[in-house]
Amino acid sequence: MIGAVLLAIIFGAGLYFKRTIGLRNALSLGYWTSRAKGHEFYNSDKLYFNRGNRDAKDLLLTIDDSPHRESMDLILKTLKEEKVPATFFVIGKRVKESPDLTRRILAEGHEIGNHTQDHIRLDTLTEKQVRNEILNCQTNVERATGHSMKFLRPPGMRFNPTVLKVVKEFGYITVGWNVGAKDFIPSLKDGHYDIAQIRAMKVSPEVITERVLKQVQSGSIVLLHDNPVTAQALKPMIEKLKAEGYTFRSTVEMLSKLPEPVNVVSNPPVRK
Ligand SMILES: [Zn+2]
Repeated sequence: MIGAVLLAIIFGAGLYFKRTIGLRNALSLGYWTSRAKGHEFYNSDKLYFNRGNRDAKDLLLTIDDSPHRESMDLILKTLKEEKVPATFFVIGKRVKESPDLTRRILAEGHEIGNHTQDHIRLDTLTEKQVRNEILNCQTNVERATGHSMKFLRPPGMRFNPTVLKVVKEFGYITVGWNVGAKDFIPSLKDGHYDIAQIRAMKVSPEVITERVLKQVQSGSIVLLHDNPVTAQALKPMIEKLKAEGYTFRSTVEMLSKLPEPVNVVSNPPVRK
């Protein structure tokens, strides 16, 4: 009898955590430690934004590795039609190639974040190289748009204490993610995509949409990539998420709605 009650409690708790914070978090000591310190959403020591408020059915769409000529137009068109804001983490060398697209992101009301100059994993670099990777991307964005950036996402989400220290010195807030679509498709040297490779990876708009829908919770930060397949997935994905009652918010809005609000400006004009 006691065994059955215990089993029911464990099963019930399992179901509850699966729905609310996820089983992996529930079993992780690190998760409960950071939650106890009030760092579950935003770590003010590390300037690290981990997830949005659980009390609002809000989502943040982040799109990495922008701007890409073969997909950007469809992505921006879809976001405009759906009236959905997004945060684009741009690569400096792509910004230099397509300053017009970079300006368009801001002009259409979205946010731009720093995703480094060359998209090299920062935890493999020296402190000086890390500094240059961040600074060169920043310089290219400022030249293209006249605006600076407040948010940063390290390539592959790879960082170490040195990287976090440098990011903090620059004053950036690092933006993490909780929902991944596994939609990263490597582009060729000339910037084009190889259709055969995309087919071999078996990523389709349907698969990407399904992966996102399966994982989202209130306050999730969704990671997508700027490529032609994801561009096609965007419209059905947004429509299905809206039908489930989700509202899309910018990074600034998500931060301002935290239990302990953080108020920042995403892309202030460069001071002359
Ligand atoms: Zn990336």
